[in-house]
Amino acid sequence: MSDKTIFERIFAGEIPARMVHEDEVCGAFHDINPQAPTHVLVVPRKPIPGISALSASDALIVGHLFVVARRIAAELGLDGGFRLVINDGEDGQQTVPHLHVHLLGGRKMTWPPG
Ligand code: 5GP
Repeated sequence: MSDKTIFERIFAGEIPARMVHEDEVCGAFHDINPQAPTHVLVVPRKPIPGISALSASDALIVGHLFVVARRIAAELGLDGGFRLVINDGEDGQQTVPHLHVHLLGGRKMTWPPG
């Protein structure tokens, strides 16, 4: 049994994914269970378990995720806006223990989220 997260396995090519972006710090791919017409996950290569596990030295990585998300939103034509979501821990409904930013768009979002 692998100790790698699902997202590490995607980066390793062990699980297929519809990639939209790759660089040395992160990758981005379409979510397997989309919650909006556009639902992309922006994921650092470093398997940081989540926001709760961040250290100060991760600040550049986290900033990079947001810059990449903004760029992908533009590339995918989300001109009317979009939503970025990071779930953390059990109460936050995080299901994959590898930090990721959800980029959701292509429909009008509602507030508050459930
Ligand atoms: P979380 O619930 O941790 O915030 O988000 C995890 C996300 O990963 C979910 O939206 C889920 O659909 C997505 N996901 C889980 N497994 C896979 C997979 O194997 N491939 C892709 N592309 N997305 C996945």
